[in-house]
Amino acid sequence: MAKRMLSEAEGYELFQKYGVPTPAFQIVTGADEAAEAASEIGYPVVMKIISPQIVHKSDAGGVIVGISGAEEAKKAFNGIVASAKEYNPDAEIHGVIVEEMAKPGLELILGGKTDPAFGKVITFGMGGTLVELMKDVTLRILPVHESEIRTMVKEINAYPLISGYRGMKPRDEESLIAIITGVARFFEENPNVMEFDINPLRLYESGACAVDARIIVDDDYRPVGRKQRKLVPPEYFTPRSVAVIGASSDQKKMGYAVLHNLLHFPGQIYPVNNKRTEVQGLKSYPTVTAIPNPVDLAVITVPAVHVPKVMQECGEKGIPLVVVITAGFKETGPEGKVLEDRMLEIARSYNIRIVGPNCLGLIVPPRGLDTTYVHQSPNPGNIAFISQSGAIINTVVDWSLTQDIGFSAVFSVGNQSDLDFLDYLRFVEQDKNTKAVILYVEQLTDGREFMEVVSEVARKKPVVAIKSGSSQKGQQAASSHTGSLSGSYEVYMEAFRRSGVIPVRALRGAFEAAELLAAPSGYLKGRRAIVVTNAGGFAVLSSDYADMYGIQLIDLPAEIMDELNEFLPDYWSHGNPLDLLGDASEKRFEQVFEVLARHSDLWDIAFVVGFPNLVLTSEGLAKQVIKFTEKTPNPVIGTFLGGESMDAGIKLLKEHHIPNFDELEQTFKVVGRVVWQRCRAKSIGLP
Ligand code: ADP
Ligand code: MG
Repeated sequence: MAKRMLSEAEGYELFQKYGVPTPAFQIVTGADEAAEAASEIGYPVVMKIISPQIVHKSDAGGVIVGISGAEEAKKAFNGIVASAKEYNPDAEIHGVIVEEMAKPGLELILGGKTDPAFGKVITFGMGGTLVELMKDVTLRILPVHESEIRTMVKEINAYPLISGYRGMKPRDEESLIAIITGVARFFEENPNVMEFDINPLRLYESGACAVDARIIVDDDYRPVGRKQRKLVPPEYFTPRSVAVIGASSDQKKMGYAVLHNLLHFPGQIYPVNNKRTEVQGLKSYPTVTAIPNPVDLAVITVPAVHVPKVMQECGEKGIPLVVVITAGFKETGPEGKVLEDRMLEIARSYNIRIVGPNCLGLIVPPRGLDTTYVHQSPNPGNIAFISQSGAIINTVVDWSLTQDIGFSAVFSVGNQSDLDFLDYLRFVEQDKNTKAVILYVEQLTDGREFMEVVSEVARKKPVVAIKSGSSQKGQQAASSHTGSLSGSYEVYMEAFRRSGVIPVRALRGAFEAAELLAAPSGYLKGRRAIVVTNAGGFAVLSSDYADMYGIQLIDLPAEIMDELNEFLPDYWSHGNPLDLLGDASEKRFEQVFEVLARHSDLWDIAFVVGFPNLVLTSEGLAKQVIKFTEKTPNPVIGTFLGGESMDAGIKLLKEHHIPNFDELEQTFKVVGRVVWQRCRAKSIGLP
């Protein structure tokens, strides 16, 4: 027996055990019996159809409320059964439930679902018939602590309807929290429950009542077992010698581009080609086994059908790590899956670890290693990028060259038949070159294990993540792309937040956030901010954006104010943002920064917003910003606005690893997102 729906009565009984109040009810199978039950329960009553095939009872004419007498009850019974039969002639009708009519209240929804990646998730929000319209819901991945349930309740937009809005009395929030806690426990303790909803739960000034209960169980359900994981020694990713199997001199072949990008590799490089003795000017070998020296890494570019045989040879050669660039495996269907399994089995028998298949492989710029076919290798730097899309790596690497962004490592995870996101995360966690991590995620298999690992990594290094598939269309695209179904976007967002990962939507935002966090000041400590500018217009806009993105512009404390008044012209803004006026010279900025640095304990972030003019050069401003960062432990963030005249200053900031943005709203948006996540992480006990 696969999935089945429990009756409302079974649902009520189960939920009652977990402290959920429900109406008194009886199940009847005839009209007279219905009238008897109704008088026992007490009028008015509600009657509803009981049929495993009817999910939405109202749609089937299967719900009648406000029944106030015996005759009405009999009529209701017959009416409900007739409507249900008409609605679905094949539906098995198990009877009718007669229940106490609950008084009107605020209609909420409590639900649960089983996410393919993260398992059980509970949702809470505005209920009733407007759920789909309002979409005012929030969710948590189980297990969930009571304190989180409290936050959850406050998160919905309609929360004022619970806490008391415009003279309305507050509703019983404590009962609600107790009910959600009970429901979460119910979901956890019953492994066969796949999904449920209580819609509506009526919340009163005192108490509450669930007036519908739907539970779907699957007695055959087994959660996906956790994969056996053997840590990859970090030195696997910094090999001394690399073989390219399928290396080619033909520019149209993958094996050409891969070898081409490896020509600059400072270690040994061995082309393998069974038809040629020389490839791109290098001596070539017919098989890996013919290479006279040890090989640390093999990159395979030959067609999928040949991969198992080549893997066998890599095993005989004793190669510990193999990158399989070749596509045509699991992502293409069942035949490809068989081939992938065979390849994996051979690899396992020789203790070979696999990157890919169906991937670009890896780039470790500090080691001069690039197994991909990207147009041009990226520069070394301190950001690690782990991506489930190869195309995005190509784009990002190309773009990074124009933006002066460097990488400590780039991993294209591909089908993750052996090594997966978590193995790469473990590598960047301990990699000393990596200061911040960006993930591009389409879909994860074991979301729970991901959360455990990534939250450990995020304790040490900031992790920023983009999840694709927020739209329905996006979800389809992701599925045809990796050969696997995409999980629900909101669950991923919640998983990221819970693990201290900073969720971002756009690639540009991801890099800006990562660069910001890779700066020596690291994680932002709090949201108390100061804005220093020479432009009145930007001062006002800064206040607007700060407000919009949750950055708190502090009121300047008297001690700072007094010191500033000593040397600033009378008509300075006398507040935060500190508008130092259009004629502000380098000297004026220097003096202000000195005062602010001395009072670093009073603020968490300083924004310096500058525009070009004739009294202040961009280098001059940049120099003062650099001096400022040397005097304060707090992050100083530049927004140098203008055209080419600002380039020199921006370059200086870059050289000193001071984050700079070229658009004011973007500054506050990115910083706001990071700060919000940090505050949330702290509130749930992450560092
Ligand atoms: P459906 O299967 O269509 O969701 P419900 O059991 O939720 O059916 O009933 C439809 C609506 O009828 C509910 O949303 C609620 O407003 C009202 N209702 C149902 N049961 C009761 C009850 N016991 N007391 C008061 N109103 C009820
Ligand atoms: Mg309902």
